[in-house]
Amino acid sequence: MHVLITGGAGFIGSNIAQFHLKQGDKVHVVDNLSTGQLKNIEEMLQTSNFIFDEADILVWDALEKAVSWADRIYHMAAVVGVFRVLHEPISVLATNIAGCERLLRAMHKSRWDTKLIMASTSEVYGNRPGNEALHEEMELHVKPGHNTRWNYSISKLADEALGLSYAHEYKMDITVIRFFNVVGPNQTGKYGMVVPRFVKQALADEPMTVFGDGSQIRAFTDVRDVVNMLNLLAENPQSSGEIINVGSTHEITIKALAEMVKDRAKSSSDITYVSYEEAYGVDFEEIYHRKPELAKVKRLTGYAVKWSLEDTIDDLIARQINRKGK
Ligand code: UDP
Repeated sequence: MHVLITGGAGFIGSNIAQFHLKQGDKVHVVDNLSTGQLKNIEEMLQTSNFIFDEADILVWDALEKAVSWADRIYHMAAVVGVFRVLHEPISVLATNIAGCERLLRAMHKSRWDTKLIMASTSEVYGNRPGNEALHEEMELHVKPGHNTRWNYSISKLADEALGLSYAHEYKMDITVIRFFNVVGPNQTGKYGMVVPRFVKQALADEPMTVFGDGSQIRAFTDVRDVVNMLNLLAENPQSSGEIINVGSTHEITIKALAEMVKDRAKSSSDITYVSYEEAYGVDFEEIYHRKPELAKVKRLTGYAVKWSLEDTIDDLIARQINRKGK
């Protein structure tokens, strides 16, 4: 099979690339390396089934050709990470929407039968009171304006609407994925993601920065489980034209996460509490509780996650120590 991955040098994209190379597929990655990193695909670059183009999908002139070559496309290219979203509120909207639209247009023009897996986000559920599991049919609470955190969700909602409109209008085979706190190898903490930040801080015996009082709750999922789920969804025709949550329901507070990472890294770091204002800027609005309803992905894949959070953290610690030792 021929697999095209936009944003394939990024965190989730590079893990998808590895998965498909292992399956014996041919993989073409396009990435502008804005948040993606060459080191994520370095080993793959040595293999004959892997092609890489450093290009921006907004202007890449070989997009149509790459699309017509592909049997399956994963659209992962986007401006991501809370820090980046807050610092680049306009580019997050412009890039994410225009990139997705250009890809869909190229698919429509050159090849209608390709399967497209599109990345969206649990951020589209916005902030809501209580701790109800978030399900795909729920009303959404995003609001444009002063608080630019929501620009990311707005861009992804526009992408969802675009993707589903192409799917319905032109009978294209498109599935939208709402990711919930994915973690694992190749994720960088540079743009705010909590797990790689805690692992790095703990191993350096530096203060671990819990934002707020640490009572906020997330459910983390290992990217290797996520990649398996995406593949099963892509193989199931019933996923076509659907929006699907992908994540896990194993919840943890951020304070408990910091303690877990500290403990497993045998670190002497202090756990420190940083106000949201200090961490992100005055207008930041935290999501206190986020957990997915996963009935749909379970029905469509039958997949049970294999990685516990403890195992993922141990693996990340071992990789970081290994990298330093080299
Ligand atoms: N967070 C934290 N310390 C950090 C980075 C993040 O306490 O150094 C918190 C953040 O405020 C949020 C949670 O960890 O409550 C998850 O943050 P992340 O950016 O990884 O994901 P998201 O906010 O999108 O769920």
